[in-house]
Amino acid sequence: MKLKKVIEEIEEWLKFYSEIEKEVPGFPFLKTRNHERKLKILENKVNSCRKCRLSSFRINPVFGEGNSEAELMFVGEAPGEEEDKTGRPFVGKAGQLLTRIILAMKLRREDVYITNIVKCRPPKNRDPKSDEIVSCINYLMEQIRIIKPKVIVTLGRIPSKVFIKSDLPITKLRGSFYDFQGIKVLPTYHPSYLIRNENNKELKKEVWSDMKKVMNLLGIK
Ligand code: URA
Ligand code: SF4
Repeated sequence: MKLKKVIEEIEEWLKFYSEIEKEVPGFPFLKTRNHERKLKILENKVNSCRKCRLSSFRINPVFGEGNSEAELMFVGEAPGEEEDKTGRPFVGKAGQLLTRIILAMKLRREDVYITNIVKCRPPKNRDPKSDEIVSCINYLMEQIRIIKPKVIVTLGRIPSKVFIKSDLPITKLRGSFYDFQGIKVLPTYHPSYLIRNENNKELKKEVWSDMKKVMNLLGIK
């Protein structure tokens, strides 16, 4: 990155921090919605972001949605076609499966937080490139700092590798907790992978056994 760009980036984040830390004196109830307010300011930043080439292909950026104080966060790869059209994460076929998984965990989508590593759809759903991930990752890191989840479930290889420094394939990584700045990270298969391998019942069982570990950790019986 050129020095000018680095300085611009620092200036932008300092502006963001000064905005989110503003309190409203005398209105303590506004504080309880602090997380939501911070997320909204960050979302506005994403909505006007042109930091990488993906901005020129998107219809809508997909910031993420859910409980701003969720204990559980799901992180996918990137928005797909439906997500790009609607501006909401995981609403296509893979999203419907993720929703069923969340319900099976005795939770609702509104109880958890759902987002992706990159916020704009890559053309033809290709994998996000590493420079695009680098450009976008601070938004996710800031979402994590605001929400402070107990557990992050990473869906598939690409998001898992952002949190876990390892060369192991997702088949070996999945199902164990890893530490990321004091937060537990559990990689599992991406729902699209389950859909692509519909006949392999073993994969579904593995995901369910991973989710049971998360439920245990969160005290869901
Ligand atoms: N796949 C993802 O990784 N993220 C979405 O939001 C939808 C599909
Ligand atoms: Fe900005 Fe991320 Fe979209 Fe790239 S993918 S334009 S960094 S919001």
